This record gives sequence, structure tokens and C-alpha cells, in this order.
Amino acid sequence: MSLLSCLSVYVHCCSHPRHWAILFSCLLIQQRKASCRINTEKQFLMTRGRIFLILYGDLVDFLPTNHRTRTIHYILDRRASIKDIIESQGIPHTEIGRIDMEGRQLSFRHIGEDGERIHLHPFTEQTPLRTATVLRHDPLKNIAFMCDSTVSRLARNMRMAGLDTENAPEISLVDIARQASSAGRILISRNRDLLKCRTVNFGQLIRSVHHRLQLREVFARFRPENLLDPFSRCLVCNSTLVVVDKEHIIHFLEPLTQKYYHSFKKCPGCGKIYWHGSHLAKMEKTLHAVLKTLD
Ligand SMILES: [Zn+2]
Repeated sequence: MSLLSCLSVYVHCCSHPRHWAILFSCLLIQQRKASCRINTEKQFLMTRGRIFLILYGDLVDFLPTNHRTRTIHYILDRRASIKDIIESQGIPHTEIGRIDMEGRQLSFRHIGEDGERIHLHPFTEQTPLRTATVLRHDPLKNIAFMCDSTVSRLARNMRMAGLDTENAPEISLVDIARQASSAGRILISRNRDLLKCRTVNFGQLIRSVHHRLQLREVFARFRPENLLDPFSRCLVCNSTLVVVDKEHIIHFLEPLTQKYYHSFKKCPGCGKIYWHGSHLAKMEKTLHAVLKTLD
């Protein structure tokens, strides 16, 4: 019998002692139900633990501007891996170089427990690329990159510098992530959701919208100076350029190019012809400016 029914009995039959007994027993049941619900909520709140995430370096920059703090109090409202917990704060796992707790390193699969203090270190130029770590069991064999469509101009500039940089195909985020990992390429993007994909092994979230600063971000993290070989790759398709005799391609050239330029390279992939004109000089200037800021 519901409380409403009890009150109805009370209103119509309150003079009878038997109905008083029914009314009281009904009220008692309702009170017990309410008490039980409150206890369950209390128990839920008490059993939910919390962990403390301590952020180092520039990881704090990923947090919303009005919530930037070095120590995050994370409420454990579900069973979650440390990768999921970190990414719930807006930090893709590609930005983490090391996770420590009480002097030992943790993998991304670690399940957060109540009271843990977990130290998160950013991925920097010191983070190993060619040797296995607790976070990344499959090191890179070569330093090569894949850029998605959010950083297509950066990809072109990286190829201009001679870095092996492919464009990601127009497929789903999950498939791009899988393809970059299986090819052993570092995935470069401004898309956090892409870099949060579980299969991404190495990656970088580009923060700047300015192409020169974007190139600097990549150089500052991966320090590829010993790989630089400007104008050795096709800016369009990433193939390695080959030297070609002027007489073999002269019929493709504009009259002024025929007159003033004498050394040429050709892309064996797409057939594009390159010479050291003003556009390449401008790109070279960008490269030198970026390298200068790293000294
Ligand atoms: Zn090409």
C-alpha cells in the first residue's frame, strides 16, 4: 500500500483503530525505504575513491584555462585505466613520456586505485624513441612521420626539410591511427581525438596554428637535425627526388625557367619537377629561422 493510499484510508476511516494501525505500518515501510536509499547513496560516495594526478612540464597547458593546476583530484567513479583517466582531462596519451608512482614506472593499462599519487611527465626530446619503455614496448626503427589533414602545410614543410612525412589517407580516425602505428610512423595532428586512439604508439598534438611554430614544435620534440636534407623529397607525395638532366625535361619548362635555371630534380612518384627558384629559397629561409630558435 502506498503512502497516498494510507492517507486516503486515514481521511475516510480515521475513527477506526484498525485503520490507524494500517496507517502507521504503511508510514513505517515508507520511512525504511527512504532510509535505505540514503544509506545506498552514502555507501556509494564512501566507496568512490580518488587519485591525485601530479602534472609536470607543459602538460598543464592541456587543461582548461580556468582549471589549470599542477595536482588534479580525480574522483574514481568507475574502473578505469590510467590512459583513460589522463585522456578524460584532455591530454592525449601521446603527450605522456613517463608515468611514475612511488618510484616505479606504470604502463597506460594501470587501473587507478583510491589514494594513489601518480606523477605524469611530458613527452620531451629526452623520451626514448628507439628503445622500448614501460609505456611503449615497440620502439621506432626509423624516424618517420604521418600528418593528418589538420596539419597539411606542416607536412609539406617537413618534406621540404627532408623528413620522411606521409599524408594520412582520407579514412576514419581509428584507421589512420592503426595505419600510422603499423607503418612505424609518428602521427602528427591537431586532432586530440585522433591521438587518443589506443593504437597510436608515437604521436604529437600540434598546438600552434602558425606553420613556422608548428615546425618548431616537431623539431623541439624529436630533434631530427641529423635527418635534415632540404629539397631531397617531393613536397607533394614524399618520394625521394632524383637529379635529372635539363635536356630531358626542357620541354616541360617555362621560357624563363629554361633560361635562368640549370639544375633540376624530378619526382619518380608524381613526375613533378623541382629547381631552386624563389619559392624554395623562401622555404629554406623558414627552415633556417626554425633551426636558429632551437640553438
Ligand atoms: Zn611526387
